Amino acid sequence: MSRALVWFRRDLRLSDNPTLREAIDASDEIVPVFVVDPSLWDAAGPNRRWFLSGSLAELDESLDRRLVVRSGPPATVLRALAAEVDAEAVYHAADVGPYGRERDEAVRNALENDGRSVHTPDGPYAVAPGEVCTKSGDTYKVFTPFYRAWSEVDVPEPIPRPRRIDVVDGVDSEGIPEAPEVDASLPDPGEEAAGEQADRFLRSAVDAYDDRRDYPASDETSRLSVYLKFGAIHPRQLLARLDRRKPGHKTFAQELAWRDFYAHVLHRWPESAWSAWNDKLADIQLDTGSEADEAFAAWSEGRTGYPFIDAGMRQLLAEGWMHNRARMATASFLVKDLHLDWTRGARWFLHHLVDGDISSNNHGWQWAAGTGTDAAPYFRIFNPVRQSERFDPDGEYIRRWVPELADVDSSEIHEPWKRPDGPPPGYPEPMVDHATERDEALRRYERVTS
Ligand code: FAD
Repeated sequence: MSRALVWFRRDLRLSDNPTLREAIDASDEIVPVFVVDPSLWDAAGPNRRWFLSGSLAELDESLDRRLVVRSGPPATVLRALAAEVDAEAVYHAADVGPYGRERDEAVRNALENDGRSVHTPDGPYAVAPGEVCTKSGDTYKVFTPFYRAWSEVDVPEPIPRPRRIDVVDGVDSEGIPEAPEVDASLPDPGEEAAGEQADRFLRSAVDAYDDRRDYPASDETSRLSVYLKFGAIHPRQLLARLDRRKPGHKTFAQELAWRDFYAHVLHRWPESAWSAWNDKLADIQLDTGSEADEAFAAWSEGRTGYPFIDAGMRQLLAEGWMHNRARMATASFLVKDLHLDWTRGARWFLHHLVDGDISSNNHGWQWAAGTGTDAAPYFRIFNPVRQSERFDPDGEYIRRWVPELADVDSSEIHEPWKRPDGPPPGYPEPMVDHATERDEALRRYERVTS
């Protein structure tokens, strides 16, 4: 009787799961396992731990409560479990992050040394990192040509949920790790919730996505990032339902391509997770010390005095999620207006974001900081007032998250310090003057690039 371990990681679903499918086809029985890796669990932040715990509970339920959970370093845990159940093979999906790849290498070595085989038939992306290359075989550094090449790849059709899964009985499990207490109001975890959210979005909002996705108050983006992050849904399952001749559908596919683009970049340049991809900009002058710490605290708590920035930062604390437009504006503010290190902001985001993901987050930060692969870096300085006027014209997003400004008229809400009596009680004056700091940022960029 042949047995295989199916190591679930960021693919917490049964539908469209080629890793599971291959393991079932190749063996008589499987042991579905999740390894609680202390290095990842401790770093995840309470919101993602909460979500993961709920996702595992649902997966366990779908597997008739036979998901095996063990904690410890994956190479040690899987080696021992494979020996315990006499599994010939281990199946898991691929990873792109530097830590994940090293871990997977260690697992492969440990298992192969014991004479077992390791298979990685799938990964979390529509197009696997490394698959889309320039003519000379290198990784694209600019999104637009990447997207053109990405669009031409035939993404396989999703495969259905297996009708029957034969799971080895009686394998000890430590049980699902307990969900921590969280302050944020988070989405429902699990594959079913992912499917419902996808249905809601694809039924109608996707048609207007190209027009509406930039307005944080209307909340018309898919909110699927967290499900994609944990693999409760795969991008294949979304792409298969799009009609890319329609502008909304096409734009949505393009956003999924951004996710793949950053995964390709991280896969090719693993050191870019935490260092400037463009090393010319690694030496840019940054503010440090106690004033910088105070500035960071004001930014992270949403009390910069710029309403659009504060709304974004408070949404992050309240929901463990922030609208993309606000992510770009708040990131730009930290780097260009406060002259702080982008990695500080990236760490804060990763601690709070329920969709926190090293490739999308850290490369989103590098995009905003101008240190990434993108070719037009230093003039991308977001004006926090213009962003607010343009993308939240009535101040609805601001009022939702910054109650001190709830009664301020739309004509004054973007610059409340200009009211005759200044900002309303409890709301601060702007902590910096944007025009001054913009010039300062440009000076600092020029110093390292000229
Ligand atoms: P939608 O607008 O519905 O987009 C659909 C999907 O496309 C998203 O779920 C996501 O998977 C992908 N996507 C959209 N925009 C981007 C993008 N710019 N880069 C990569 N993928 C994208 N996304 C994360 O998933 N995790 C992060 O940790 C993360 N951190 C970010 C940090 C910064 C500074 C910036 C500027 C962006 C970050 N993003 C991150 C990208 C983007 O903001 C979120 O994916 C998006 O806001 C999630 O909401 P949604 O699912 O409603 O997006």
